[in-house]
Amino acid sequence: MMPRIFGNHAALHLIRTMVQSGHVPHACLLHGEKGLGKKTLARYFAMSALCTGAVQPCMECSSCRKAVQDVHPDILWVEHSGKKQGFSVETVRSICRDAIVAPNDGERKVYIFADCDSMDIRSQNTLLKLTEEPPPHVLLLFTAEHRNVFLETMLSRMVPLAVCPCTPEDCRQALLEAGRTQAEAEQAVSICGGNIGKCLEWLDSAEMQAMTKHAGELTAAIAAKRSYDILRILAVYEKDGKAAAEFVRLLDLQLRDALVLKYTQDNLTGCDRQSAQALSQVLSVNRSAQLHRAVQETYDALQANVSPRLALAALGGQLC
Ligand SMILES: [Zn+2]
Repeated sequence: MMPRIFGNHAALHLIRTMVQSGHVPHACLLHGEKGLGKKTLARYFAMSALCTGAVQPCMECSSCRKAVQDVHPDILWVEHSGKKQGFSVETVRSICRDAIVAPNDGERKVYIFADCDSMDIRSQNTLLKLTEEPPPHVLLLFTAEHRNVFLETMLSRMVPLAVCPCTPEDCRQALLEAGRTQAEAEQAVSICGGNIGKCLEWLDSAEMQAMTKHAGELTAAIAAKRSYDILRILAVYEKDGKAAAEFVRLLDLQLRDALVLKYTQDNLTGCDRQSAQALSQVLSVNRSAQLHRAVQETYDALQANVSPRLALAALGGQLC
C-alpha cells in the first residue's frame, strides 16, 4: 500500500513539476530528520517517474499498480551491506553494472539508496561516475538525515529536496488514520511535534514515554529544589550516553518553556506544561540562561562521548 503523504507541499510540487515537464534529474537527495517520511516520498517520486498515465502518479496504470504492490521490476531498493550497514563497495559496483542494462518495463530504472547516513567515502567514490554520467534511463534517489554525509562532488550532482515536519493538524490526522486514538494523537503531537514517524515511535515505546515523564519530574524537582530527586532522576541515564543526550535535550525544552511562560502561554515545545509552569515561577531570567548553558554543555559533552555518568554528575551539581 502506498501511504498517504501529509504536508511537504514544496517537495511534492517540485517532484510533480519535474515529472510533468519531463525534466527529471538523474540524482536527487531527500534529506531531513528521521521519521519525516523520506522513504515514502522516494517511493512516490519513483512511482511518478515511471507512471504512464496522464497525471503522475495516476495510481491506475500497470506501472503504478506494480509500484503500489512493491513488485515493480524497475524500482530497486539497494540493499544495505558492509560493516556499518551502509552500502559496501561491492554492492555499489554491482549497481553500476546493473544500471547499464535497459529497464525491464518502461523508460526508466530507479535506484533508491535509503538511509545513506553511514555510507562511507569509498562507496561514494565508487558511485561517483554513475552519478556524474548515468545512462539516460537511470534515476538515483538518495535519502539521508544530513546532507553533509555526502562528498561535495556527489552533492553537486544531486537535486536536494528538503523533507519537513507537517503541521500539528496534519500530523494528528495522520496518526488518526494510522489507527491511533484522538487522545494518543494529541499527546504525541504535543511532545514530538509534526514528525509523524517520531510520534508513532513515541506511542510505541514505553522507554521514550518514561523519558518524557522523567523530564517533567526533573523539571518539578528543579523548581522545588529537591536535590535528592534531581540526582536520582539523572542517575537513571548514567549508563547510556545516547539516551542521556536525548533526555538532556528534553530537559532543555522544558527549561525553554519555563522561560517562555514568563511572557506568554503559547508556543511551548516541552513535554510537561505543569512542571514548566512551576519552574517558571521560581526561575529568574539569569538563572534560566545559566541552566540552559549547563544543559547545552552536557549535551555537547555527551555527543563528544564523555562518560554519561560524569557528564550527568556535573549537570546535577549545577541543577541543585
Ligand atoms: Zn500511473
